[in-house]
Amino acid sequence: MLHKGYGLVLATLTFVAIALTTMAVKVGMADPAPIVRSLDSMSYVVDSIGNELVAAQRQVAQVDTFTVTQAPPPPARPKNIILMIGDGMGITHITAATIANKNQLHLERLPVVGLMKTFSNQLITDSAASATAMATGKKTYNGAIAMDSKGNKLKTIIEIAEDKGLSTGIITTSSVTHATPASFYAHQPKRSRINREVSAEFMTQKIEVLMGGGKRYFKPKHRKDKRDLIKELEKKGYTVVDNVDEVGSKVPRKMVCLIADMQPKGYSRRGDFLPKATAKATRILDRDRDGFFMVVEGAQIDWGGHSRNSKFIINEMLDFDRSVGEALDFAEADGETLVIVTSDHETGGYSINEGSLKKGEVSAKFTDDYHTATMVPLYAYGPGAEIFSGTIDNTDIFFKSCELLDLEIPASILEARKKSEIEGLDATTELDSTDIMEAHGADFGTGYGRRFNKK
Ligand SMILES: [Zn+2]
Repeated sequence: MLHKGYGLVLATLTFVAIALTTMAVKVGMADPAPIVRSLDSMSYVVDSIGNELVAAQRQVAQVDTFTVTQAPPPPARPKNIILMIGDGMGITHITAATIANKNQLHLERLPVVGLMKTFSNQLITDSAASATAMATGKKTYNGAIAMDSKGNKLKTIIEIAEDKGLSTGIITTSSVTHATPASFYAHQPKRSRINREVSAEFMTQKIEVLMGGGKRYFKPKHRKDKRDLIKELEKKGYTVVDNVDEVGSKVPRKMVCLIADMQPKGYSRRGDFLPKATAKATRILDRDRDGFFMVVEGAQIDWGGHSRNSKFIINEMLDFDRSVGEALDFAEADGETLVIVTSDHETGGYSINEGSLKKGEVSAKFTDDYHTATMVPLYAYGPGAEIFSGTIDNTDIFFKSCELLDLEIPASILEARKKSEIEGLDATTELDSTDIMEAHGADFGTGYGRRFNKK
């Protein structure tokens, strides 16, 4: 455009100059000097306009160059994602652990912070429905393990990642068949009394790492079908152990570590399983050049909330936080790993009313011994972390992770996403809530189920 404009100005000025010369000749002025002068000044005008145009062009060119260099780089994409779920972890649970730990946590190393909505088909979610939302991008009824309210199986991000050739892993301080981990690899219409079905479903998956409790659900003695899933795992190339330390510094190709027959013990008797498992799993999964997706769950933070027990919560929180530290150490050295730390829901309506930073003490109250509808915090570190800031929905964990890892989202899930999340909810096939609560109460062995049944 500028070239054209420049040409036009030049042509106009030349025409005016010729016209003036012609005029001078025609009038036969004695002294042509003024005309020469005016031609000179015309050419000066042309020159100076030209120079200005050139200068303007240069300026534009500089602005262009400037714009290009200052444009934000394309969003960074991670090769690996570590999704860490503090089950039942609300902001107060984090605050209590911070106070107890000399006012600092590894969580503070993650620079991006946001809030996440946790509702399921009901305002107050359970772990199964919230994990299903994060694993599949679909809200469902409480108690559903990666199934929708119409009874359809929902493909999980672990399954999609495996299809694309990524490695995957799941680590938890509950049984590996418990609601949160199960929702990433199994498909069951209800969460209670399905441990053996879930362990059988694991056998159909390609997941490289599985660590947590629930060993009995893999043993023939405790299975109606008498399958020895431990033996089957070994045949499939898994190193099967019941303690992370058993493999020493070795990095097996695939590993299943089952540390308890059913639910692992609380932190004081369980020890550093979770941080060690997190560190070991990153080393196993990092062998895959295509990248990995891994889930780490601090399951018992929730049980501390159900038990209305601050000490229980703080111990489990600090154990989970040390695991966050291990994941961050790996991510910092690796440079291609996104670490997301969040929760499935808040448990306990927990709040701190008194305490001392100096003494590391908290005095807290609980508004309930079940989950609440309060939004949960979300932290992120690494390539792509910034897209997790602000207020997001639990289904966004699935969508954003798929986007970053370039994973294919099933068409039916994309379709459902177009509709409003609340409009799309279908509460008609909800389980009887007593059934869910009972199962959940039995999960962590408190009197919680009994209290609910009284209602
Ligand atoms: Zn719970």
